[in-house]
Amino acid sequence: MAFDYIQADLEERRQAHLLRQHQVVDVNYDGLITVADNAYLNFASNDYLGLRQHPDVLQAWVEGLELYGAGSGASPLVTGFSRAHQQLAEALAEFTGRDACLLFNSGYAANHAICHALFKQPGTLIADKLSHASLIEAGRTSGCQFKRFKHNDLYHLEDIASNQVSAEGGNVLIATEGVFSMDGDTAPIDKLANLSERHSAWLMIDDAHGFGVLGEQGQGIGAASTDQNKCQVLMGTLGKACGTAGAFVTGSQTLIDYLTNFARHYIYSTAMPPAQAHATLTSLALIQQGDLRQQLHANIAYFKTKMADLDFALMPSDSAIHPLVVGDPAATIAYAEQLKSLGVWVGAMRYPTVPKGSDRLRITLSSLHSAQDIDALCDALVIARDRL
Ligand SMILES: *Cc1c(COP(=O)(O)O)cnc(C)c1O
Repeated sequence: MAFDYIQADLEERRQAHLLRQHQVVDVNYDGLITVADNAYLNFASNDYLGLRQHPDVLQAWVEGLELYGAGSGASPLVTGFSRAHQQLAEALAEFTGRDACLLFNSGYAANHAICHALFKQPGTLIADKLSHASLIEAGRTSGCQFKRFKHNDLYHLEDIASNQVSAEGGNVLIATEGVFSMDGDTAPIDKLANLSERHSAWLMIDDAHGFGVLGEQGQGIGAASTDQNKCQVLMGTLGKACGTAGAFVTGSQTLIDYLTNFARHYIYSTAMPPAQAHATLTSLALIQQGDLRQQLHANIAYFKTKMADLDFALMPSDSAIHPLVVGDPAATIAYAEQLKSLGVWVGAMRYPTVPKGSDRLRITLSSLHSAQDIDALCDALVIARDRL
């Protein structure tokens, strides 16, 4: 029989407590979700600022539907690129302090597009070990020489850049994340920029989790710490703090013109709905306005203080992401199930999403959470820890 192995692969995952399944969410509002008729405090969302249900964003989306219709109707270089797309791209370029911007339907597509377009000629991608799956896969499939350096380890990176990039290695792209999606820590961006410059490499930052959260204006840690001469390729997503969907790349006019011409994920894909672009413009305004970010950071500080008082060993993070490493997939699931029984939903991240032996609960905070919500989370964590 054809594809016999797929049943066996599923069975193997089930046995190892690694099988993934959808959870249908019926209500998702104001930091609460309901699943199978039970309500939970939601500490597993990337909607860090509550923008996916902000009345102004919803209003803008409705306005966008009236102005532009439901979909874009074509790929962007045919007739799918509307005034709303242009306005959003311009706003993102300005917000991140770059010449120009290209919009994508997802961060996954953007990361693939960057690598496949830039490595049309031979080159080497050197990426942080903990980079997102989309970048790792782009590195593996884009035909470049692909190397990975130990997480945030500048010595290891220096060694690879000095000794392991062969003479035929071609152009070098060093890639990292602003805020790491599973650990919540940040990259040493200044040092990475200096190192890249010394090796005549380009630096790419995927700021999916920093954009909207970090930086003086919420422009992200990548945009706040670099200009386009230090970090030539800046990428961010719109489905996290922005509360909508899609992604962007900003950089020099030449880079964006090049991607517009050679990034196949861009050229051959229907442009994002213009109403979505229109709504995202309002998200940007709300991020810049600052109140929601302030609330998020107050929540992060409150949570960290409480957890330290309760002797939980969190990893260092000033972002909205706070992992609690358990170290084993079955125990991680058991922990998450205990929390669920107490009305609290957190992410249970297992191999291969995180390295083997570092299976963890991933707690994400939002401006939507109240102090009482965070108290309830901490109480539940204590009870679950005691029971296990
Ligand atoms: C979420 C994420 C992506 C993918 O973005 P999508 O728009 O969800 O496809 C890429 N990189 C990082 C670091 C992410 O966290």
